[in-house]
Amino acid sequence: MESIKTLNGVGPQRAKILEKKGIKTVEELLYYFPRGYEDRTNFCDIRDAKDGEYVCISATVYSPVRETRIRKNFTIYQMTVFDDSGQIRVLWYNNRFVKGVFKTGDNVLFYGKIAVKGHQKELENPVYEMPQKQHFIGKIVPIYPLSANLTQKTLATLMEEAIKKAGNLEEYIPTAIRQKYGICEINFAMQNIHFPDNFLNYESARKRFVFEELLLLRLALANRRNANQKATRTPFSDTECAKEFIKTLPYTLTNAQKRAIEEICADFKKDTAMNRLLEGDVGSGKTVVAAVGIFVAYKNGFQSVIMAPTEILAFQHFESFSQFFKGTDIKIALLTRSTKNKTKMYEDIKNGEYDVIIGTNAVISNKVEYKNLGFAVTDEQHRFGVSQRANLAEKGENPNILIMTATPIPRTLSLILYGDLDISVLDELPKGRKPVLTYAVGKDMRKRAYAFVYKNVKLGMQAYVVCPLIEESEKQDLKNAKDIFVGLKTAFSDISVGLMHGKMKAEEKDAVMRDFLDRKIDVLVSTTVIEVGVNVPNSNIMIIENAERFGLATLHQLRGRVGRSDTQAYCIMISGEESELSKKRMKTMCESSDGFYISEQDLKLRGPGDFFGTRQHGLPEMKIANLVSDTDILKLADLATEDIMQNSVEISPTEKKKLFEKAYNAIPESVILN
Ligand code: ADP
Ligand code: MG
Repeated sequence: MESIKTLNGVGPQRAKILEKKGIKTVEELLYYFPRGYEDRTNFCDIRDAKDGEYVCISATVYSPVRETRIRKNFTIYQMTVFDDSGQIRVLWYNNRFVKGVFKTGDNVLFYGKIAVKGHQKELENPVYEMPQKQHFIGKIVPIYPLSANLTQKTLATLMEEAIKKAGNLEEYIPTAIRQKYGICEINFAMQNIHFPDNFLNYESARKRFVFEELLLLRLALANRRNANQKATRTPFSDTECAKEFIKTLPYTLTNAQKRAIEEICADFKKDTAMNRLLEGDVGSGKTVVAAVGIFVAYKNGFQSVIMAPTEILAFQHFESFSQFFKGTDIKIALLTRSTKNKTKMYEDIKNGEYDVIIGTNAVISNKVEYKNLGFAVTDEQHRFGVSQRANLAEKGENPNILIMTATPIPRTLSLILYGDLDISVLDELPKGRKPVLTYAVGKDMRKRAYAFVYKNVKLGMQAYVVCPLIEESEKQDLKNAKDIFVGLKTAFSDISVGLMHGKMKAEEKDAVMRDFLDRKIDVLVSTTVIEVGVNVPNSNIMIIENAERFGLATLHQLRGRVGRSDTQAYCIMISGEESELSKKRMKTMCESSDGFYISEQDLKLRGPGDFFGTRQHGLPEMKIANLVSDTDILKLADLATEDIMQNSVEISPTEKKKLFEKAYNAIPESVILN
């Protein structure tokens, strides 16, 4: 598509400004949609204009602009205009450009806000046009997200030219799909998304682009999933052996765990590689599901690998799996940064000495060659970069892939995020788990909260304290980890307090975490770095300082660190803020321990902007679709995707080709892999 430089009015300087916004081509400019509109269609007589209203007025200049300098940097430009019904004063502040524009007797169109001051009506800082050049008054006018260095008017003018220049845009949503789902044609949509004739047309145009955006994303993911399903591999012939392993477990599996295991085993039997997401709240027991898979892989003569985001977590998995496979011949390797004699280990892995390799991203190092890798597991997927996961998938000959995550996202959005994967959900916690008793308290309760921690430590338990910051911040009165750490050490000199934060080196963090695990530390003060899946069952209290600073999803994840044993666990959220919103959020945490419910509430309370701003959920950024409020259109896009993938509507090969080309180009690879 043509460069924006081909547009009149785009010189090198404007081109640069636009490029900064990611706009290089005319097409990209066209897809730079307004964030809102100004309805400039409401004309009225001066007499009828009411205080506070935005109106258009057609009037005659009575006296040209007068300049009144009030003080430095504050000059008022004003004139009086009239129509048949009355007169009004028009004012501009510091806008010297209006000087000399108007002559007595000129007819002018204005749009602006009315102010009534006593008997005098005023129109402040209005936009104006001469009737013979009427353009942006009397219409619905777009408001674009960008304002710096470019005025709305400039942008709107560029947009008009771009629409003209693009001429007849090529339609690539197949006619049958458009008819079935009530989607308007692209040129009509483009005109009306920027310059709607009326709000009905706008709705129709918006629906089209939201549909388009979601459809392209869904198609790209669905297509990728198809490609995944074509990746052939040797099936596992025996999956019955899973039962043998399950019998050895010290507990009965939940129904959800059983279901997930069945789904995984069914995938194992296929001659195409599994690509499955195991989604389950913290503590839902994902690890043992992976263990069953690893056992089955082993029985079928295949190696397995499991990648964890931190060394300490890898170490914990190593210990759990050693326990799981105690009575078998399964050999487990722990491969992390601190592994000694790596060369020997690489050799042993390559020779098949090891059946299971557990580690950090060291397991995807170029130096590691697997022997007959059949099953690859990524734990806590949201902590890994896109390429790391892809690399794990590339090891061996199309291994079966299982991705485990504890990040709950509202169900409606799963398809957007995980449309290229099959999904198993653990929607059930193991029996007998006591919910973490959760309290939201004010600062006045801090002393008591810590006294409670102290008492519990004396009873042999451990506790976490989480703070939003490491060091003091000048602006805000926030609790920081270092202060709390020092404070606790001084107040409770007979217990051991540890400190951990994101600025520490990985080795240092691991050392602290290990000390906590070994009960050398009673109270661990930390930033949110403890969020990821470490299991310290002996810790039963979590104190969260300035809890209002954290998203609900993070609070839930943090709380999941406690309540991992039979002992009653407590989460005390100390909030420094009393706003209604904050209260509602704290209430949600106190009421529920269901990660899905909490993330849905999070969405409702904070609004989509914030929600996706945090990027906690890894959702792709959308140009126009609002993943929260556009669920209806999302459903249509899902149905249309099915139609297209299943060939259940009449679509010509050319149409299909065009559509898929668009899907590839529109969606960056990083989104698809996400
Ligand atoms: P997560 O899904 O957060 O990774 P884990 O796999 O670490 O959860 O399991 C949390 C705890 O629950 C572990 O201590 C594990 O032994 C235990 N567990 C898992 N499944 C069951 C079950 N079916 N019954 C009882 N305890 C279980
Ligand atoms: Mg886990």
